[in-house]
Amino acid sequence: MPIRPIVKYGHPALHAPSAPVKEIDGEIHRLLDDMMDTMWAAPGIGLAAPQIAVPLRVIVIDLSVGEDPQQVIKLINPEFVEREGDQRHDEGCLSVPGYGGSPIRPARVTVKGLDAEGKERLYTGTDLLARAFCHEIDHIDGLLFVDRLTPLKRDLLKRKLRKRAKSDDWEEE
Ligand SMILES: [Zn+2]
Repeated sequence: MPIRPIVKYGHPALHAPSAPVKEIDGEIHRLLDDMMDTMWAAPGIGLAAPQIAVPLRVIVIDLSVGEDPQQVIKLINPEFVEREGDQRHDEGCLSVPGYGGSPIRPARVTVKGLDAEGKERLYTGTDLLARAFCHEIDHIDGLLFVDRLTPLKRDLLKRKLRKRAKSDDWEEE
């Protein structure tokens, strides 16, 4: 199963809302497999389809990064059922390599969506899992953690990122 390239800040797929999946077919199964492999290889704990330039509402999360199959979450058309409290913690993103920020996130979220078989799934997460759900669902809404920072931090970081995106040089810090 191929690892797909992860697109970076400035790519149009990252900055526009993605479309709901209408039918869970072989193409969606392949997409999910490729997303898992791409996330693990990065390595990362979450990935959204727009990060591999597929503008569909599909996310994967694995806080164990391949160590524990029980922790694998694959969700199609995820949406929040409940969001409570708040937390603030450092976050990074595979599409914004080399940069981080601490957006305010809910402390606890309940999310529903469809699994690979089209069955409805409900997840509740706190701490890192809550942040991961919020981060990935933001991706399919066309938002990055950068967009959630305070205006001052956001503008400063966006200026740097626009420059980086123009030069397309993400390797060097
Ligand atoms: Zn991200």
